[in-house]
Amino acid sequence: MALIVQKFGGSSVGDAEKIKLVAKRVIETHRAGNQVVVVVSAMGDTTDDLLELANNVSDDPEATPRELDMLLTAGERISVALLSMAINSMGEKSRSFSGLQAGIITDSTYGNARIAEVTPDRVQEAIDKGEIAIVAGFQGFDPTSGDITTLGRGGSDTTAVALAAGLNADVCEIYSDVDGVYTADPRSVPRAKKIDSIDIESMLELAAAGAKILYIRAVEFARRHKVDLRVRSSFTDNPGTTIYSSGETMEESIVAGVAVDQSQAKITVVGIPDVPGKAAELFTVVAEAGINIDMIVQNVAVSNTKLSDISFTLLAEDLKKAIQALEAAKDHMGFASLQFDESIGKLSVVGSGMKTHSGVSATLFGALAKAGVNIEMISTSEIRISVITRSDQVIEAARVVHSAFGLDGDTEAVVHAGTGR
Ligand code: ADP
Ligand code: ASP
Ligand code: MG
Repeated sequence: MALIVQKFGGSSVGDAEKIKLVAKRVIETHRAGNQVVVVVSAMGDTTDDLLELANNVSDDPEATPRELDMLLTAGERISVALLSMAINSMGEKSRSFSGLQAGIITDSTYGNARIAEVTPDRVQEAIDKGEIAIVAGFQGFDPTSGDITTLGRGGSDTTAVALAAGLNADVCEIYSDVDGVYTADPRSVPRAKKIDSIDIESMLELAAAGAKILYIRAVEFARRHKVDLRVRSSFTDNPGTTIYSSGETMEESIVAGVAVDQSQAKITVVGIPDVPGKAAELFTVVAEAGINIDMIVQNVAVSNTKLSDISFTLLAEDLKKAIQALEAAKDHMGFASLQFDESIGKLSVVGSGMKTHSGVSATLFGALAKAGVNIEMISTSEIRISVITRSDQVIEAARVVHSAFGLDGDTEAVVHAGTGR
């Protein structure tokens, strides 16, 4: 008997009919002789709708992060209760659990909590009794404050992987509205092809680069705890994509896929003294404001001015906070001015075969040049190259680059549901 964790995303439980379809699918897996633990997200775009409501009653919902988490976790609780009811009415025994009840213990960071420990005793008890356990994704419990927390947008993936690790499951299946992991987002690159299997390092880079099919923290968790993942569609029987965390049977593709991230912004600190320690000061100010940065570029100082410019990218939602923190430190740091730009897009190509193949940059830059796309910043890792372009050019750039690396499929990819929001 295998223990299978199945996670269904928001678009898979978007309405009553879809919830009944998921119930059938879960029951089939159970009747085939498996123990089944199900993790569900909030229905459809519920989380976004709840955020909108919060914005309608408060000028700054982020200022009350505890209340925001209390609100957002309601979405997943609706889904677990309804799915469990559907399964019970189809003749199988099932029981729903909140994150707290399922033993998802987190730190104290409201809105973006990290899982510290998983103690799924009640879930284990339920499946040992032959029941199907349904767990609310995206939420945990902070024992220090006694409060409910959320794990960051897309966090139900992390709940599923954490439970799979905590329960020592045989496999963790992530069900979504597409047939698996594709060579690019099929919503914006119609010729994207489904990938049959991919190594966890490439998946990690793709997720970090903006491929939201899997949430980066979930992939990190899977790598650390050696959980194999399978991404599949809730709407077809396609076997999907296997993500091997152990790295066996891997054929390393030079470029596994292309990803786009339109959630970033750029800040340029103009006229900063070109002396040792200034970059450290700058990034300490940013770090102390709790802001993660991504790419950094420093211009060479013009010799007679001894001043240089430093540009860096960050999440657009952190822009205001970063500017406030830097303005407050302006006199002490001694820079001339700040510029910011919210109209940037990031395009990344990822593949573990890049380590051993030359010419990837040449192909990438050649394709962008031919398409007339200007490159504003570049960063690389062993298995990724990312470039910053104008935001309104980045989707077209992704299509062109996807073609240039020979990734285009013969037919158009199918997206089965969801709004892509
Ligand atoms: P869920 O609600 O199931 O968690 P998400 O909307 O979070 O679904 O993620 C699924 C979406 O991810 C797909 O509909 C697709 O538009 C997008 N996506 C982005 N990059 C990729 C990729 N490389 N492969 C597949 N889907 C991708
Ligand atoms: N409902 C949450 C979100 O929309 C978590 C998730 O779907 O994974 O981000
Ligand atoms: Mg998701």
